[in-house]
Amino acid sequence: MSRLSPSARLLRELIAIPSVNPAFLPPGDPRTGEAAVADFLAGIARKAGLEVQRQPVVEGRANLIARLTPAGRVRRRILLAPHLDTVGLPALDTLLTPRVIRNRLQGRGACDTKGCVAAMMTALCALAGSGKRPQGMEITFLGLVDEEHGQLGSRHYARHGPAADLAIVGEPTRLEVVSAHKGDVWLELRTRGRSAHGATPHLGRNAVHLMARVVEALETTYAAQLKRRTHPLLGSPTVNVGSIRGGTQPNIVPEECVITVDRRTLPGETEATVRREIRSVLEAAGVAVQFTNLRLGACPALETDPAQPLVQALCRASGRRRTVGVHYFCDAAPLSEGGTPAVVFGPGDIAQAHTRDEWISLDSLDRGTAILARFLRSLD
Ligand SMILES: [Zn+2]
Repeated sequence: MSRLSPSARLLRELIAIPSVNPAFLPPGDPRTGEAAVADFLAGIARKAGLEVQRQPVVEGRANLIARLTPAGRVRRRILLAPHLDTVGLPALDTLLTPRVIRNRLQGRGACDTKGCVAAMMTALCALAGSGKRPQGMEITFLGLVDEEHGQLGSRHYARHGPAADLAIVGEPTRLEVVSAHKGDVWLELRTRGRSAHGATPHLGRNAVHLMARVVEALETTYAAQLKRRTHPLLGSPTVNVGSIRGGTQPNIVPEECVITVDRRTLPGETEATVRREIRSVLEAAGVAVQFTNLRLGACPALETDPAQPLVQALCRASGRRRTVGVHYFCDAAPLSEGGTPAVVFGPGDIAQAHTRDEWISLDSLDRGTAILARFLRSLD
């Protein structure tokens, strides 16, 4: 084991401290919450000379802030922002015992996203230990709570700041620099009919039949319309009718039918523009619907200008010519909405996230740490 790099040794310790998002285990389960992992990281950060603070988000859950401050005035800020929570565990907690198998480290969070936590903390502590502090640049490790459920940590930080010149959000991107992802709007649509006896359907109005026309219009006309719209990194937006519920029994003309719709958005599209489009498609099809509120909130799309000097510096440090887009949502969009341009970067592959045998390649972890260290050293 002594052959493991500093970031791999740190990752092994982080995996052994469970931090399952409370949404995925019964209330009060001792394996939930980010506090234990945050305490452990706070100790490491203090030892390295970083300034440590907590930013309370909700009862018992706080973002961890560990800062390397410049000697003089702060002119620019960078956030290294991975999340501290993980998804749930398979039976028997096997993923809480980190295991090195060939060139892989296995355990819950290895790839999503304790690998990024380890890489970012190791790179920042190395810079602090070198005694070199980039001029006017404050570099903050921001350990966020609750990414895997409601992104409470990043939403809270976006509101209360301080905003920065760039956030590098830690997710397993295979060391690509991600500058764009789609957003997501969930809608609930309802048709209203008039109930009648099943033997005299002409006396009623069938809400399921009305909804059949809505589904058809969304899945054909609207879907085709969306396919014609494309983004260079993200392709086309999409629409999916995910559930349908209507009527009660065969001999009653149904009075009501409800569908839920998942609409993946491109940068610039909002819940309001999506509703407007759907309304006009359905108007053309001759059916009217009510929009009801799912109270899930829309996840905005992410689009950060790849030409920004700090993004370019990260691309150079990682040997990439250009940034890429991904299909998943993370803390980058809420931070970006709060006024901090954000990209996503980290070791590991999202394909291993949330799996029963989650692992990260140690090679990717070490290369990710080296890239981040090179990027931080280049900030002078
Ligand atoms: Zn993640």
